[in-house]
Amino acid sequence: VEDAVAEDIARFEASFRNITQRYRLINRIGEGTFSSVYKAEDLLYDHYQNEWDLDADKENIDNISSSTLKQNSSRAQKPRYVAIKKIYVTSSPLRILNELELLHDLRNSLNVCPLITAFRHHDQVIAVLPYFQHQDFREYYRDFTVDETRVYMHSLFTALSSVHEAGIIHRDIKPTNFLYSPSKQRGVLVDFGLAEREGTDYHHCTCCVEIPDRQRKIQTSVYATTVNAAIQAGQPVPKPTYPNNDQRSSRRANRAGTRGFRAPEVLLKCTAQNSLIDVWSCGIILLTFISKRFPFFHSADDIDAFIELCCIFGKKRMRDTASLHGQVLQTNVPNLTENGYSWEKILLWCTGRNKKGADGQGGLTEEEQEAVAFMSCCLELDPARRVTADEALDLPFLAGLGG
Ligand code: ADP
Ligand code: MG
Repeated sequence: VEDAVAEDIARFEASFRNITQRYRLINRIGEGTFSSVYKAEDLLYDHYQNEWDLDADKENIDNISSSTLKQNSSRAQKPRYVAIKKIYVTSSPLRILNELELLHDLRNSLNVCPLITAFRHHDQVIAVLPYFQHQDFREYYRDFTVDETRVYMHSLFTALSSVHEAGIIHRDIKPTNFLYSPSKQRGVLVDFGLAEREGTDYHHCTCCVEIPDRQRKIQTSVYATTVNAAIQAGQPVPKPTYPNNDQRSSRRANRAGTRGFRAPEVLLKCTAQNSLIDVWSCGIILLTFISKRFPFFHSADDIDAFIELCCIFGKKRMRDTASLHGQVLQTNVPNLTENGYSWEKILLWCTGRNKKGADGQGGLTEEEQEAVAFMSCCLELDPARRVTADEALDLPFLAGLGG
């Protein structure tokens, strides 16, 4: 353990009353904007509270031999490791309560790292979770085969589907928040620091209307309609007229998340965001695997992020997406095409392949095409047309992996 980390651990132990009586801190394993996470051994873990252990011991009473005794004692002495998440005191008490409450709600959800307990000392709160052995995403994403990626995505969507079923939006799906073990072929979702119950802060947005009614009702944004009509007719775009004393409050929406993983409706400040923003982020993770580029998007801000999407999806589709949420896309960024590029083209380009060589080789493999088809359902620009986590598990790319 480096000096700086050892010092940090010592300071933490000294500041949090009695923590050393219960936990032996081993290392610092995470340091983010909102917390530090430590690996620790739970010194008071009662090995016999575990039912599975109890049953195993009962069975062995009738059949005692030195070897089973030895096995049992070695299992009983296996230390239990935990992850202690020290939430920074700069986080508001409401935010901390929200994270703990949601984790508590999700305690029985598949592939979600459960909360063991939590403590408070003065203004400091710690959450205690079982330690989950995993590997850093950067170590494996380039080498994963399509089949390995499939297993990863199945594990991730299983977690997401149980979170959404509980009516919770995670809001920050990305590789560092999904701890995956390639050897166990299993992952757990962590970090509900930005999560919220679906429907919190929900206000009407022009995207809310049923799909067949949309064309008609979208006219709520008069300026957007005028601009889009002008562009379609090839006429000059009318200048927006900003009233001098605009009585309307500026548009506000939850933008929480991580750059590069935000769904278009988050970038567009849609006020009616739902759990489908998480499905978009999963699509971006899959894009990372099959393009072998991480991070795939790395814009500095939301405007840049929107332009990055324009590069791929083309101006036409992004204009429609903007107007879906009552916004107008106007850009003078050169080289943006009207129609964008197909995923196939982008992926071949990312992985240095041609569409078809003279030998008939090249192009995407059949399983890659299956992955792309699945990804397109996750990266659907219109949330109403995007696949839900539940539906995703039934798509051909994942369907074979249930159970
Ligand atoms: P933050 O809100 O600061 O991002 P996270 O809950 O995402 O906090 O945890 C930060 C990091 O700590 C994770 O990316 C992971 O590396 C590590 N970590 C968190 N929980 C666990 C756990 N249960 N087991 C092992 N490592 C964990
Ligand atoms: Mg995190």
